[in-house]
Amino acid sequence: MKLSKILNSGKFSLSFEVFPPKSDADYNSVSDAAEEIARLSPSFVSVTYGAGGGSRGLFTAKLARAIKSECGVETLAHLTCVASGKEEILAMIKEYKAAGIDNVFALRGDLPEGFSFPADRPYLHASDLAREIKSHGDFCVGGACYPEKHPESANKAEDIYYLKKKVDAGCDFLTTQMFFDNDLFYNFLYRLRDQGVTVPVLAGIMPITSAAQVKRIVKLSGSFLPQKIENLVDRFGGDGDAMKQAGIAYATEQIIDLYANGVKNVHVYTMNKPDVAKKITDNLCDIIGK
Ligand code: FAD
Repeated sequence: MKLSKILNSGKFSLSFEVFPPKSDADYNSVSDAAEEIARLSPSFVSVTYGAGGGSRGLFTAKLARAIKSECGVETLAHLTCVASGKEEILAMIKEYKAAGIDNVFALRGDLPEGFSFPADRPYLHASDLAREIKSHGDFCVGGACYPEKHPESANKAEDIYYLKKKVDAGCDFLTTQMFFDNDLFYNFLYRLRDQGVTVPVLAGIMPITSAAQVKRIVKLSGSFLPQKIENLVDRFGGDGDAMKQAGIAYATEQIIDLYANGVKNVHVYTMNKPDVAKKITDNLCDIIGK
């Protein structure tokens, strides 16, 4: 089923994200975790894609297919293009089609260490990939967006200018980078709607589960960390279980506030952690009626 149907239904959607294994040896443990997450009946499960592509990309297709066929849960397969030539991208689109995948998340990605740009660079931006995917099948296509702007964008106005082009290229919906202050999301949504972008925007929520993760997040995403999170890390960072409980509580509070303010679609970066997905689902059960 196309995600646009779920996201435009007017009902609240709660989705989860998993990442594929790095090697064959890890496949079973990753697919067990992903299936445990899928059995919580989220609206869909997304499967990320290594920016290097290649044979590792095949794990994304395999995992997405398994979640859909084994658990009956709709999936979204990510695809990045920064390190790929046209032939490789066309082969992956074919692979997704063969795996019965209806939904693809089109990303540029960041060039991984040790990789170089393909000689012809057929896809400079995610919008080039979104256009390519749309021209090769009846896919529902999503794209990434950044409430605090992408780190490479000169300013928020430029960021939204190119985001609008990405939607015009074929993105049926957008999912945000993680944010920890809901006001950043509300402000972003206002500016996006003001520029005429009307597609569903999924709010991306990352439950912080360890002090080490906070450092990684700030480095990788550049997301703003409110004082309240810094206080949680100061107080509970040395105690793994307490930090996890506090992080899940913070994420739950964010989701409840989004729900209360009329946001219809929330995507949780559960990162192959079924216990985190379960606690979030349980915390929300009476609110979202699951
Ligand atoms: P783009 O949309 O191409 O944007 C990148 C920059 O280029 C922005 O500054 C934009 O304003 C600018 N730009 C866009 N179009 C133009 C244009 N025509 N002219 C000039 N400038 C332009 N990475 C992975 O490797 N695998 C994943 O599975 C993955 N999943 C993600 C999921 C989400 C929800 C998010 C938010 C990010 C994800 N990422 C993933 C990270 C992502 O690949 C990086 O953030 C990357 O730096 C940008 O990718 P993009 O698709 O947003 O790029």
